[in-house]
Amino acid sequence: MGLLNRYAETLPELGSFVLPEPLKDMRVGLFNTTLANELALPEPLMKPQNMLDWLHSPVTPLTQRAFAQKYGGHQFGQWNPELGDGRGLLLAEVIDSNAQPHDLHLKGAGPTPYSRHADGRAVLRSTLREYIGAEALHYLGIPSSRSLCLFTSSDTVYRERSETGAMMIRTAPSHIRFGHFEYYFYASQTDKLQRLLDFTIKHHFAECKEATNPYAALLGAVVRRTARLVALWQTHGFVHGVMNTDNMSIHGITFDYGPFSFLDNYESGAVFNHSDHQGRYAFNQQPGIALWNLNALAHAFSGHCSVDEIKAALSTFEPTFILQYQHLMLSRMGLDTSEQEQSLALMQSWLQVLETENQDYTYNFRQLALANVSSIECPFRDTFVDREKLDAWWESYRQLRLAREEDTELLSLNPAVIPRTHLLQQAIELAENNDFSLSEALLEATSTPFDTKWDTHPFSKPPSSSTHTSLSCSS
Ligand code: AMP
Ligand code: MG
Repeated sequence: MGLLNRYAETLPELGSFVLPEPLKDMRVGLFNTTLANELALPEPLMKPQNMLDWLHSPVTPLTQRAFAQKYGGHQFGQWNPELGDGRGLLLAEVIDSNAQPHDLHLKGAGPTPYSRHADGRAVLRSTLREYIGAEALHYLGIPSSRSLCLFTSSDTVYRERSETGAMMIRTAPSHIRFGHFEYYFYASQTDKLQRLLDFTIKHHFAECKEATNPYAALLGAVVRRTARLVALWQTHGFVHGVMNTDNMSIHGITFDYGPFSFLDNYESGAVFNHSDHQGRYAFNQQPGIALWNLNALAHAFSGHCSVDEIKAALSTFEPTFILQYQHLMLSRMGLDTSEQEQSLALMQSWLQVLETENQDYTYNFRQLALANVSSIECPFRDTFVDREKLDAWWESYRQLRLAREEDTELLSLNPAVIPRTHLLQQAIELAENNDFSLSEALLEATSTPFDTKWDTHPFSKPPSSSTHTSLSCSS
């Protein structure tokens, strides 16, 4: 069959075997054939109805080794040892044709020993947001978990109101989080921590094996991957919303989507999670929080690395982040990295103009990419209020662009379509009535986000009123 579950088989004492509990009248809502092909899934799993049937029986390749992982995490800065897969199950693992592993993980699978009196369920609203969001990030070039399958149901799940119960199967190289290492460290379960570290290196970071200290090499790799990920988030105006250490993947991929959002208007301090009263997870806090989380992870490595090794690993975060972020931002704007100081000043003043004018982030970057810099007048000046300021900025900008030896193509770096919150909301309302047509349309558009065919499509437009939606963490 080609299905494994090496985590559950190698480390059974690091969690519990639990059967999924199907919802009433479960139906396939969405299925990602492209991903199923990329992963070279075994033939029976190419049919979502088969998957659904398998979830209903305890002795199938998807259920017989289904496993809830135990972990902890720093939530809003506070250590919480009581976490784990409270509603998710690791069903199985597939190895693709490049020998890369992928977990199949079912979210909303029902209660587990780590549910802490909660219902073990997920709602259609949050499941659909994750499903579309994760795929969109992938096609933007931002590492992410992927979305394989979404099941809807006629079950009702109560959150702040009654909602439709749903499940999704997502894939990721593994579901090992920062909080896994933290949990076994703080619980002083040194043997389990050791086995987890060795498992992680053997199956997921084999390149660290030959290092003088493989554990220090692992920490360094996680630091660099996380720095690159957050640089991509900042470049695309993506706000994760709940950067607790249990939602941080050691692979440096976007993971455990909750109240995430892309910026509409550029607001550097934007907060979308309505439980985040302090603004801990604001857009402009994400790089600092990523480093805070890496410090928490590093603490769990303190029995395996010297102080100097930990310092050396953590010290690579800032330069990696800054280098990536500046490179990505200047590339999006077509600015030369050799004229660094002038280019960075122009980038900063562009962001300031967008912020003071309450202008849409993604839409205006796209306008910049579409603009002809030989034009003396800025083609989109009419949508700005302080036109004198914009004119001055445009003049300096276009001179710098014109001075470049060769002008690069910017459309492939500046998406026309992103999964905006208001579009996701419309898709959810239809899906609540079993109509997944808008979800499918959004998935199609966000899978080719740079295509010029979207520039005339309503998906590419910012929401009509200047909105700032705050999103619920309860999902
Ligand atoms: P999250 O906010 O989704 O990242 O979840 C934080 C913790 O709460 C994790 O340990 C989850 O497994 C658990 N959790 C969240 N929602 C539920 C739920 N409805 N039932 C059981 N556990 C949950
Ligand atoms: Mg989580």
